[in-house]
Amino acid sequence: MKTITEAARQTPLVETYDVIVAGGGTAGVIAAIASARNGARTLLVERSGFLGGHIASQLLEHSAGWFDAAGRRIVAGLPQELVDRLVSAGASPGHVRDDTGYTLSRVPVNHEMFKSIVTGMVAQAGVDLLFFSPVVGVLKDDDKVSGLIVENKSGRTAYGADVVIDCTGDADVAERAGCAFLSEADAPTQPVSLLFKLGGIDHQALLKHVAANEQDFKLGVATAALVGEDHVNLWGFGPQLARAFDDGTVSLKRNELHYSGWVRSGEAVINVTRFAADATRSEALAEAEIALRRQVLEFTEFFRRYIPGAQNCFLSASASCVGVRESRRIKGRNILTDNDVRTGRRFEDAVLRGGFPIDSHDPKGASLDSAEHLASGYDIPLSVLVPADVDGLIVAGRCISAERKALASARISGTCMAMGQAAGTAAAMASRLGKPLPTLDIGDLQRVLAEQGAILR
Ligand SMILES: Cc1cc2nc3c(=O)[nH]c(=O)nc-3n(C[C@H](O)[C@H](O)[C@H](O)COP(=O)(O)OP(=O)(O)OC[C@H]3O[C@@H](n4cnc5c(N)ncnc54)[C@H](O)[C@@H]3O)c2cc1C
Repeated sequence: MKTITEAARQTPLVETYDVIVAGGGTAGVIAAIASARNGARTLLVERSGFLGGHIASQLLEHSAGWFDAAGRRIVAGLPQELVDRLVSAGASPGHVRDDTGYTLSRVPVNHEMFKSIVTGMVAQAGVDLLFFSPVVGVLKDDDKVSGLIVENKSGRTAYGADVVIDCTGDADVAERAGCAFLSEADAPTQPVSLLFKLGGIDHQALLKHVAANEQDFKLGVATAALVGEDHVNLWGFGPQLARAFDDGTVSLKRNELHYSGWVRSGEAVINVTRFAADATRSEALAEAEIALRRQVLEFTEFFRRYIPGAQNCFLSASASCVGVRESRRIKGRNILTDNDVRTGRRFEDAVLRGGFPIDSHDPKGASLDSAEHLASGYDIPLSVLVPADVDGLIVAGRCISAERKALASARISGTCMAMGQAAGTAAAMASRLGKPLPTLDIGDLQRVLAEQGAILR
């Protein structure tokens, strides 16, 4: 590829913080709050115009990963405080049953209220905020990250920090800092998707259809238990999807879809679209956006034509950007292996717990379900959040140092939020003590996390 040489430039160093969090998404908002509440002057830098990441931008069906298969709670602390605030504002029913039986419970969220509530919580914690500010570079002193460069309405500006937390999902900061990444040869990443929301659904008619066609659905409860619920979770519609593919209504072959219904408002979030793409390449993301937006229209038509109760439905919202399940994973000081997750491994330096099934989607497959269910939860240690080769940096969210099946479990939003609390607390402690992250007294960090409600064991 041809290159050009840019002119050297002077970039204003606007301010220096104790901690900067890059990416105000699922992990990032919790990391920023944890950092600020633990006494660090904290800046949160977000590329879009709102906080909440995938939960808000992707219109997630619900937040999951809060309990393991045995019913033991694995995420609490700051993430639960956020759920409590959502519940008291009427933006979520809290932990409700998973009707599909895939997991025990889930937390449906009103996405619009979520954006406002999470922004209020971050601002209340005293975090400084920058929106529309993608991170485009890092400041480094030898092998230590010492700040970030962003580009926004003010131009190109730099911010110094003792510790940077990379919560960009794609590990953009780690990439610009020259960190090593994990990769498995010949292994395409999980597909990208675009969730969408339909309005105008008659749930009574729809649930009648489900009751009469139980064999077409994965159900964890009797169909009678769905009647009268405010939030229903369905997984199926295989025969209709087959017919719609055969008659050309949809161009993507699927044998099931995930339906998360808000009964009172007649709405539902639909998870069915997919496209194989490398989410670290802008050209691939553009191709995905075009293909997925076409699929959204096709599947809306599919609902109108084939699903009882949805004849008059309409597209009421769609994800604001392509949803990414998997992209870069840093090479950390340790690696969470597939076997660690399958065997419920314990770590001395545990800072949170995971326990969601290994949810690994095949980019070319028709099914939604390739899950491996875990008997119990597993530890996630600090050493998989800390890069092997660069100081001053810690990551949280779906870019941690984990093998692919391990990440397919740990990427769930409840676990990502708990990572945020661990990373924010560790970063604040490292800044206050003036110590590199790997030299923190792990017992002290674990004690502070436990005092602040996090679950480590
Ligand atoms: C289609 C789909 C369906 C899913 N369904 C569920 C579900 O039902 N339940 C569930 O719990 N989980 C679900 N997940 C998984 C879960 O949503 C994500 O894995 C998790 O939210 C990732 O959290 P994160 O903090 O790593 O990233 P995100 O939440 O994506 O946050 C990253 C943030 O960083 C910002 N950012 C990115 N790059 C930059 C940059 N260079 N500079 C500044 N900011 C930047 C982004 O704008 C974003 O706000 C789903 C994922 C997908 C893709």
